[in-house]
Amino acid sequence: MKLDEKFIQKQKRLLEKEKEKLEKKMTELEKYPDYGRGDDDNAREYEDFENNLSLEVQLKTLDKKINTALKAIDKGTYGQCSVCKKEIESGRLKSVPYADVCVSCKKNSKR
Ligand SMILES: [Zn+2]
Repeated sequence: MKLDEKFIQKQKRLLEKEKEKLEKKMTELEKYPDYGRGDDDNAREYEDFENNLSLEVQLKTLDKKINTALKAIDKGTYGQCSVCKKEIESGRLKSVPYADVCVSCKKNSKR
């Protein structure tokens, strides 16, 4: 099934909304919480820092994917699997608007 313009525009709005949410989260992350000086507090602070780091990596990865999807919309290649070049299932795009591989390639890539 070929993706129609209406569907793509809807996906674009979804992606832009998602990007907004993401940017908000990243700004919040930058406000690093300041805890007390006790040993326990430091340990907790370090743990939070670690958690924030991996979260930051996740958010950045997601941000990249969203940007790639938005660029693909502009180029008219949105919805194409980056591995097998076939159309990505529209059901998958609905749940994951920034998906860049189709369901079967996702299954094969075991990442
Ligand atoms: Zn594929």
